[in-house]
Amino acid sequence: MNNTSKQFDVVIIGGGITGSMAARELSRYQLKIALIDKNADIGAETTAANSAIIHAGYDPVPGSLKAQMNVLGNPLWDELSEQLDFAYSRRGDYVVAVGDEELENLEKLHQIGIQNGVPGMQIITADEMRRREPLINPRVSAALWAKTGGVCDPFGANIAAAENAVMNGVQVYRDTKFTGFLMEGTRITGISTNQGDFKCRWVINAAGVYADEVMHAAGVHPEFKITARRGEYFILDRAGCSMDQVLFPVPTDAGKGIVVTASVHGNVIVGPNANLIDDKEDKAITRPGMDEIWSGAQKLVPSIKKSDIIALFSGMRAHGNAPTPGGVVDYQHDFMIEIAPGVEGLINLAGIESPGLTAAPAIALRVVELLKDAGEKLLENPAFNPIRKNRPRFRHLSHAQQKTLIEENPLYGRVVCRCEMVTEGEIVAEIHSPIPATTYDGIKRRTWLGTGRCLGGFDMPKVVDILARELGVSPFEITKKGAGSEYLTCYTKDGVCHDKTE
Ligand SMILES: Cc1cc2nc3c(=O)[nH]c(=O)nc-3n(C[C@H](O)[C@H](O)[C@H](O)COP(=O)(O)OP(=O)(O)OC[C@H]3O[C@@H](n4cnc5c(N)ncnc54)[C@H](O)[C@@H]3O)c2cc1C
Repeated sequence: MNNTSKQFDVVIIGGGITGSMAARELSRYQLKIALIDKNADIGAETTAANSAIIHAGYDPVPGSLKAQMNVLGNPLWDELSEQLDFAYSRRGDYVVAVGDEELENLEKLHQIGIQNGVPGMQIITADEMRRREPLINPRVSAALWAKTGGVCDPFGANIAAAENAVMNGVQVYRDTKFTGFLMEGTRITGISTNQGDFKCRWVINAAGVYADEVMHAAGVHPEFKITARRGEYFILDRAGCSMDQVLFPVPTDAGKGIVVTASVHGNVIVGPNANLIDDKEDKAITRPGMDEIWSGAQKLVPSIKKSDIIALFSGMRAHGNAPTPGGVVDYQHDFMIEIAPGVEGLINLAGIESPGLTAAPAIALRVVELLKDAGEKLLENPAFNPIRKNRPRFRHLSHAQQKTLIEENPLYGRVVCRCEMVTEGEIVAEIHSPIPATTYDGIKRRTWLGTGRCLGGFDMPKVVDILARELGVSPFEITKKGAGSEYLTCYTKDGVCHDKTE
């Protein structure tokens, strides 16, 4: 692909939830927009690996951008999930104090919530908490109930926002890595990538843990540094551990602590811990990390069993402004949402760690304000359509609906993933969707296939075949998550490896 002739008004670097929500919001206006991502799929980094909680907003420091964006973002999720058709549930959440010594900090958190303007909070008694969640640690002393807390499918929200942006004219370029800025003096005129140049008037830097490196390429905030803060998790089998609640411990200076939360897919997720990591790509799962999470989980729900763990994962927080040698600027670990100083044409959305998922829709609205403040005459796109429908999910349909679907398309009668009941019809629909799934992980994140007890052991060969057939390529080209993660290397005959061309 050669993009040298490509001309846009806005190029967004990063197709996570921050970039995708911004793309959708900007598609309300008459702007030519490109959304680029270095990976084979969008939403495959931090947005795909977090606690999936729509935070109420009692946690961030009052007055911080995190607090403002959290409290503004939270109420936007109901309408968003209706318009964009992704999994979401406003089920409320609890911060659970265990032992009398935690009661003082619980009340402090309640007061922070009041200062931040969080509606619908209440301290409930230990008896009430035990009634609402019988699995809770019997030593519970009280809990903070926040009725505006929720859970969502973060990748589902990410892909839905990006697909809606595409429906409204945004162009998505995957496998497209930002490598530098095109500049005339201090004015940014575009970016260079491994796929050629993109000319534009505005660049939005939503590059997650790499947002510092992107701004440094324009000479902006050389003292600002993002350090990845890794969080590790367990996922528990639905059959073994059934719970509907979102349970936080009372936070400490080290962070929000180990959460036990029910996901929108019905599994319980346990984690995360928080460790600063030098290598932004080091998503290792560690033995000490697992032990830490285990003891954190037991504090809230002592009956959790190790035999119910079916998967492990980790995600990277974009922790802004870790101390730099000689660095004196204090960003207070807050979000950076700004028109970049010293250059023209750059908006930074950086340090977007938790509650960045919750805040993303509010950050997108702030981007529109920033552009207006900079004198952009944003004319409404008269063709903007806020509605995006998801493809059918076989397991969520009634028998009558399943029968009709199979009659219309027999591929829906072929179950490929037995644990999660995902059919060939669903896989094919995702391969031909507005942002086509082209990898195994792309199919997995869109359909939830391969997330049950067998972890894809049964479905993977079949998915590779279907991807190759539908994309019209050799099975050797099918990857887990992009170049370098191919599944197949050669044909075997008689236990011997033969060249692909034989
Ligand atoms: C352990 C953990 C738990 C969390 N829990 C919650 C929670 O419960 N609730 C909540 O609200 N928030 C939570 N968060 C925070 C939330 O997940 C993030 O704030 C959010 O996902 C960040 O989205 P993003 O789009 O900014 O970054 P990302 O999702 O990382 O997206 C950035 C994108 O930029 C792309 N990119 C990077 N460099 C380049 C380049 N050079 N060229 C092109 N593309 C590039 C990447 O490929 C990536 O797709 C949690 C985070 C972690 C790690």
